[in-house]
Amino acid sequence: MLDMLFTQCSTIDHKFLRDVGVKCGKIVHLADHSNGLLPESREVVDLQGKLLLPGLVETHIHLDKALLLDRLSGDVTTLQGAIAKSGELKRFFTAADINERSLRVIRQAVIHGVTRMRCHVEVDPVIGLIGMETILALKERLKDVIDLQIVAFPQEGIFRDCVTQGLMEQAVSMGADVVGGITYNDRNLEEHLDFVFRLAHKHGLPVDLHADFSDRPEQLAILEVVKTTEKFGMQGRVSVGHLTSLGVVRKVRAEAIAEAIAEAGIHVMCLPATDLYLNGRGVEQAAGRGLTPVQLLLDKGVNVVFGSNNIQNAFTPFGTADPLDIGLLVAQTSHMGSEKDAGILVEMATTRAATALELDSYGLRIGADADLVVCQATDVRSLLYTRSEREKVYKKGKLIAETLVSSNCVI
Ligand SMILES: [Zn+2]
Repeated sequence: MLDMLFTQCSTIDHKFLRDVGVKCGKIVHLADHSNGLLPESREVVDLQGKLLLPGLVETHIHLDKALLLDRLSGDVTTLQGAIAKSGELKRFFTAADINERSLRVIRQAVIHGVTRMRCHVEVDPVIGLIGMETILALKERLKDVIDLQIVAFPQEGIFRDCVTQGLMEQAVSMGADVVGGITYNDRNLEEHLDFVFRLAHKHGLPVDLHADFSDRPEQLAILEVVKTTEKFGMQGRVSVGHLTSLGVVRKVRAEAIAEAIAEAGIHVMCLPATDLYLNGRGVEQAAGRGLTPVQLLLDKGVNVVFGSNNIQNAFTPFGTADPLDIGLLVAQTSHMGSEKDAGILVEMATTRAATALELDSYGLRIGADADLVVCQATDVRSLLYTRSEREKVYKKGKLIAETLVSSNCVI
């Protein structure tokens, strides 16, 4: 006897309607829709063609510095300005404050269908390990609602002071899931990467770097990241966020670099809300779109995904914690308007993201966790383009969020 059976579900990768059965929090039945004999189930939900997705995956977000707009005086319009301003605000962060803002963002994300999330938590002399302690506690507290992956993130660099190296090691001992790094905010790139990869390798953890966040084609750390990935044998276990410098490199060279990225199995996370906001300013020539070249990377076989990055702060004044909002932004800015593109974009927030984050028990397949999202839309294009609601969100078969919408209009 199943606990729940969803019938007549549209899915991203299947032409025909399907039936999906859940028992003890796992998907145990998956078949083309049958009008005949259905497996017995305590509860049957007829989706009548609505999309059923695996839980959305937020690949890259900063909970600890989210929702700071009301503390900012004046606009911040450069990356260095955003780092400096956030550094000032960070002095006044407390555990209760980080907890409250993080919880608000997670709640929004869950309502939008997110059941797994990778968050970068800052580790430095200003905040010490307060962010780590707070988000680790949230991870435990919310484990029945969302899986949080925590990246120990040295936003201020690792070698600009004498304590961050030790703090990074402590963060890993406390339970960080991923070792973070930043290629543009430290004294020496090689030294920085060596530290990050050595720490990750020692503990068997993946690496997730903020990399090449600029409009300048000469600022390309990615080749050094490729080299270091291969040196440590970490192919497939490294992600880079931003990578916008590659978007202004000449096409022939960008293609060769994309091939090297694909060869090293590095996942690329496009972070368009921040990149479009901060890049492309103050340059004499048109600066392109300020994004990593999503299509070119895809063409070369790179696993490209996207993330929210920031929610309403100095880096990005916008944000609703809905990965599909970011998917629409990528569609609009990376010439991805076809039906096939829409499917790829939804995969970027689901299965492709799961690959980047090395998620277990994930997907619309037998044996996976029943993390499921019932969409109001019946196809991927209307899901993305009309920002349609996620009606119901399930974590391991349990209903964790529901959105009811009713509108009135005279016409
Ligand atoms: Zn980031």
